[in-house]
Amino acid sequence: MYKPIRYFNKDIACICFGSIFTFTFQSCKEKQAATGNTADRPNVIYVFPDQMRNQAIGIWREPGFREAVNFEGDPVYTPNLNRFAKESVVLTSTMSTCPLSSPHRGMLLTGMYPAHSGVPLNCNANRPISSLREDATCISDVFSQAGYNCAYIGKLHVDCPTPNDPDRPSKYVEDRIPAWDAYTPAERRHGFDYWYSYGTYDVHKQPHYWDTYGVRHDINKWSPQHEADKAISYLRNEGNVRDTKKPFFMMVSFNPPHSPYASLDDCMEEDYNLYKDLSLDSLLIRPNVNRKMAKAPSVRYYFASITGVDRAFGRILEELKKQGLEKNTIVIFSSDHGETMCSQNTDDPKNSPYAESMNVPFMVRFPGQAAPRIEKELLLSSPDIMPTILGLSGLEQQIPPEVEGRNYAGWFTGKEQSAPLRDGALYIKNIDGDKDTEGKVISYFPKARGIKTHQYTLCLTIDKKTKGLEDVLLFDDQNDPYQMQKLSYQENKEIITQLCRQMVPLLKEADDPWYKEKILNDLIPY
Ligand code: CA
Repeated sequence: MYKPIRYFNKDIACICFGSIFTFTFQSCKEKQAATGNTADRPNVIYVFPDQMRNQAIGIWREPGFREAVNFEGDPVYTPNLNRFAKESVVLTSTMSTCPLSSPHRGMLLTGMYPAHSGVPLNCNANRPISSLREDATCISDVFSQAGYNCAYIGKLHVDCPTPNDPDRPSKYVEDRIPAWDAYTPAERRHGFDYWYSYGTYDVHKQPHYWDTYGVRHDINKWSPQHEADKAISYLRNEGNVRDTKKPFFMMVSFNPPHSPYASLDDCMEEDYNLYKDLSLDSLLIRPNVNRKMAKAPSVRYYFASITGVDRAFGRILEELKKQGLEKNTIVIFSSDHGETMCSQNTDDPKNSPYAESMNVPFMVRFPGQAAPRIEKELLLSSPDIMPTILGLSGLEQQIPPEVEGRNYAGWFTGKEQSAPLRDGALYIKNIDGDKDTEGKVISYFPKARGIKTHQYTLCLTIDKKTKGLEDVLLFDDQNDPYQMQKLSYQENKEIITQLCRQMVPLLKEADDPWYKEKILNDLIPY
């Protein structure tokens, strides 16, 4: 029934967006078809700050974009992203399936839902059951096997910390246990041959990293600035870190705008100055916010962090252009999950089915192959990102058979072979399950499941002891975009029944515990 939208007329695209890329359309495609070898494959750069909601890109306030969404964009200054958006396919409705760091990152790397990625919970030394599967074929494994150089820069957060500090064998990388932070040894890097990363560490102006050889670097610089420096160095191939005859796949994971966002220790002063004198009323504009929350003033630092991330991203784009790599490089900008920032009266910035938590940015710039436009129909989910990137790179045949996400590359390029659309995006929330005598988590409990469709958000929460229904959250997102009115279960049984029916194939696709145990089978028609 749905078909991907075909290529824009080149001339129209030029008029709309003034894009320089439309001129390269034919030559690039013909060259690839003619030779088809690895050297002609596109480079890929995937940039994802942590905890950046889709609403917090300035582009949603600009003409041509603001009409595409039914919310008012945050008043945040993001000139580089705005420019990039006009050169990209911009999705309005990308959903972080399990809006929490590690589970999303596990899905991003493996293309599998949390039940199979190995990462159902946020990674922490106390949760040995949640760690990226060593035997999974990750996106970087595929790129590496296809002849790419693969680089990872920044926050990883998919490994359970183990006592493997390269400087202090048999010790954790932090003195306290359990530790969030982790070192990832070479055998757990999944094809990444260039490494400059850490697990989790939230001192934004004193970050540290372990490099390809396990050497630790302690840096006195705001982390996105430093990571942009490293990405730029990689593009310049300083130190011969990559084979320039090969294409490259580079992931850059900025930690900001992740918390802390409470002082000038967390962001750049020049960015904070843009927001410091603005009233909370003018910054927290969503009608579902509570400006009396203790967290409210932190919005200034949150937006300042985003403006700083925007600048770091812009610097990488600028270098890409300088190096003459722009035309043959796919650049994607996204995030692992959003941030509620005083919406819905919750202190939890993420891990909820609210729009601010689930809806993340997703923009793809692929010169000559993906005509710039806004895409509203595709509800992209976390496990789809990996196969879609492989599809865009011409590696659809190499998508591992275990992958559960779908290759939607055709939705970006206009080709026909895209997977069919789903009825909605699955929502997943897991919590700690049983613990052993040492207090280590040895199982997880599938606390809530839900579905986000173009019209509704439904979330069903169950009791940990009985697995019976504990709470139903239903919003009509089309008529109530800020989710101000929780719809009653009793008065909306038909809608809930329909949404539960639509959840079944998603739970099956995810091989989810709810599907296997037929949880709430009086409500969900398995
Ligand atoms: Ca995160």
